[in-house]
Amino acid sequence: MPIREKNYWLETVSIPAGLPQPLPESVDVAVIGSGVTGLSAARVLAKHKLKVAVLEAETLGWGASSRNGGMVLTGMKLPVPTLISRYGREAVQRMYAASLASIDCVEQIVNEEKIDCNFSRCGHLEVACKQAHFDGYEESAALIAREFNHPLRMVPKSELRGEIGSEIYYGGLVDEASAGLNPARYVAGLAAAAERAGALLFDHTRAEDVQPENTNGTRKFRIRTSRGSLLAREVILASGAYTGSVTPALRKKIIPIGSYIISTEVLPEELARELSPKNRMIYDSKHFLYYYRLTPDRRMLFGGRAAFFPETENTVRQSAEILRQGMISVYPQLRDARVEFVWGGTLDFAFDVMPHTGKMEGMRYSVGYAGHGVAIGTYLGSTIAGAICGESGASPFETIPFPNPPLGLRSGHTWALPFAGAYYKFLDWVS
Ligand SMILES: Cc1cc2nc3c(=O)[nH]c(=O)nc-3n(C[C@H](O)[C@H](O)[C@H](O)COP(=O)(O)OP(=O)(O)OC[C@H]3O[C@@H](n4cnc5c(N)ncnc54)[C@H](O)[C@@H]3O)c2cc1C
Repeated sequence: MPIREKNYWLETVSIPAGLPQPLPESVDVAVIGSGVTGLSAARVLAKHKLKVAVLEAETLGWGASSRNGGMVLTGMKLPVPTLISRYGREAVQRMYAASLASIDCVEQIVNEEKIDCNFSRCGHLEVACKQAHFDGYEESAALIAREFNHPLRMVPKSELRGEIGSEIYYGGLVDEASAGLNPARYVAGLAAAAERAGALLFDHTRAEDVQPENTNGTRKFRIRTSRGSLLAREVILASGAYTGSVTPALRKKIIPIGSYIISTEVLPEELARELSPKNRMIYDSKHFLYYYRLTPDRRMLFGGRAAFFPETENTVRQSAEILRQGMISVYPQLRDARVEFVWGGTLDFAFDVMPHTGKMEGMRYSVGYAGHGVAIGTYLGSTIAGAICGESGASPFETIPFPNPPLGLRSGHTWALPFAGAYYKFLDWVS
């Protein structure tokens, strides 16, 4: 059977359709984008009895939220020592606490809304590609235990067989707090939950222009869409890596980076157990990293930044073979396993590789998850909604500077990406 260029997760769920009716004339809050950020925000707003409309250009959950690896991860993309030297101990303590709270937030929503998405606190395993990376784990684990009172477990190479059926790594680091889920089922469940709470969800509705408008002395926003226009008191930009020309100020701060995934056929039970005895979410220690896991029906799902560009038919096709080679280098046992699916999606990176949330031109936004968005996106979406509803407490990602692109490196223009790709490959070679 030829490889299907299709998101495997979408085989496991049917995504709910949006509302067929015209847009309302006005709402309290308009949310642009229906991924985990937008839908978790809409759910909270609707539960607070606010009138909220979610505007999605494609189908609900179409962006990164339905295509990802389903890893619900603690921590941030950048290592803790880097974070502390950049932002100081106290700020990083709050960031780390938010990252842990975000896993609880996902778990709580899944339980409260009875979302059937195979959520499991299976933990994550980071594997060291070099001895120097493993040596660094010890310092990192001690620092995280001391600063955040959060335990991580070192796994020396001699014990790695209990965690992963691969010989190529120098050791590992386990965090039992992380979780795994089926992302398409999760985002479909979030959409259903938001709708049950009273949110109005509109698919195939692209926001094309947003302008402030004075209505009876109150500043509101006029949003013109591919399906008519509406007026909103507040706007939440939850368009992630797919942020486009409708909000140029936000777009220029985001680097869209392609990430690709293959999925094998269903594997025999014994082989699956050998590859991942504890069914962890696994990623390696490189900058240009591989991430992989078993699916609930025992496929190996293997992802990486095979091509650096956002997905097109070409990059998806090329990625299948690159990733298969990568998978076999980790697991030679999978040499004869059939690859059945390949797909891609786009990650949202800020220039400082940090999540950012706040207000821009009067609109609220939350972006920059750098491949760690399932948990923190859900959490920050809910937090923004809480802020609109008058709940106090600023997010630690609100107060840090949100950098503009370095001179000459404008994002949204893919010509910048090969340089970024080459830079990451160079870092892997030297560090
Ligand atoms: C291949 C891949 C693997 C990943 N693996 C993981 C993982 O294992 N764990 C993890 O934590 N994170 C992972 N991520 C990252 C994670 O998926 C994202 O950070 C997260 O889903 C972002 O959610 P979001 O709601 O902010 O944006 P998205 O889910 O991308 O949603 C944005 C939506 O906005 C819509 N939109 C954009 N512009 C407009 C407009 N003008 N009008 C209307 N709608 C618009 C888009 O159509 C899109 O549906 C991965 C990402 C990819 C691509």
